[in-house]
Amino acid sequence: MKTPARVLVDQIHNIEESGRFAARSNALPTWCPGCGYFGIHQGLNDCITKLRLPLHEVVTVSGIGCAGRYSFFSSTYGLHMVHGRTLPTATGIKLANPRLTVFAIGGDGDGLAIGAAHFPHIARRNVDVNYLLFDNSIYGLTKGQPSPTSPIGSKTKASPYGTLDSPLNATLMALTYGASFVARLFAGDPKGITEALIEGIKNPGFSIFHIYTPCVTFDKTFKTWTNLKKWVHPLPEGYDPTNIRGAFDEVLSDDFSLGIIYNRGA
Ligand code: SF4
Repeated sequence: MKTPARVLVDQIHNIEESGRFAARSNALPTWCPGCGYFGIHQGLNDCITKLRLPLHEVVTVSGIGCAGRYSFFSSTYGLHMVHGRTLPTATGIKLANPRLTVFAIGGDGDGLAIGAAHFPHIARRNVDVNYLLFDNSIYGLTKGQPSPTSPIGSKTKASPYGTLDSPLNATLMALTYGASFVARLFAGDPKGITEALIEGIKNPGFSIFHIYTPCVTFDKTFKTWTNLKKWVHPLPEGYDPTNIRGAFDEVLSDDFSLGIIYNRGA
């Protein structure tokens, strides 16, 4: 009879043989146990594997924050950029070598605060970059300050009486800035992330994947696993992602419908 250690070694061997973790680096992610980022990592890895993208032709560019660690945990080429500068760096990489598949990766603090000024311009230029925006509505790496997507009244160590600022809506911003492909996703659904990424990569322009995810360590009240699982749901039956007016109506009326919100097709 196999010992538990032997069973584990065999399981790891089988996973390695399957190629499913080919896009993961040997560095184990340092995210907190239970963090939603593991689901996103799995979703992107499965996309790379399913599309058989050659790893030397894929680049992950990540910013600062917990999401910014991403490029260390991927066996693609990677850059760990300074705060908020994932999008201009990803633009430069794509323009220098258009054959590459480029993923820009960052959190809501990275991309919607210090990096927010780059968002409209990559969208209006329609650069062929795939942007994964991890939105947990909090600054996790710096131990739990409110972020640009925290709801009004969020109480943190840095806002003990509750925040006064209105939250940004990244999906609405993406539509407003003219992004040609917009998806809204959930870290608890890696399969949905993989499917949306596969569609988004086909878009020969800027694709944004706005992904709701919990910070299990510093947010115990808002975007928790329990709440997100209750709130998220698919887009309505018959939803037409090619209709920009319908996309605006959907995003303005429902914060938690998931799927491909808009796909202009070029
Ligand atoms: S602090 Fe929050 S976002 Fe950062 S790794 Fe931990 S759970 Fe994830």
